[in-house]
Amino acid sequence: MTTRECVFCNIARDPVHESPIYRDERVFVVKDINPKARIHLLIIPNMHLNSLAYIGPGQVPIMGHMFVVAEEMARREGATLSGYRLTLNQGQDSGQEIEHLHMHLLAGQKLGAMG
Ligand code: AMP
Ligand code: ZN
Repeated sequence: MTTRECVFCNIARDPVHESPIYRDERVFVVKDINPKARIHLLIIPNMHLNSLAYIGPGQVPIMGHMFVVAEEMARREGATLSGYRLTLNQGQDSGQEIEHLHMHLLAGQKLGAMG
């Protein structure tokens, strides 16, 4: 797959794309089109990284930034105190569908057990 065919790269490279509810120079955030909880956001690096399998020491800043933005989004949604879950799917067994690294933020209700 080229980055031209990547759904998240296409949003990242369009500065006026309507989907992002947040953008900065390193990440953007969209509402998941098939939400698994009342609040379901995706925190996505602007740069194409396939998955955690492509992460090394050079990506420490972007990974840290994703957590900071996730907490900021949770705060904006009023979920910091009630709680939320951050999920990062890696590879086939996790059900990863989109091969452009992204973090799920699930909130707004009691979440089921993991597993
Ligand atoms: P994953 O299984 O971790 O790869 O998650 C991919 C997620 O992206 C799924 O929850 C999809 O519902 C969601 N998704 C796919 N395309 C879009 C899109 N264009 N905008 C927002 N969410 C999307
Ligand atoms: Zn991409």
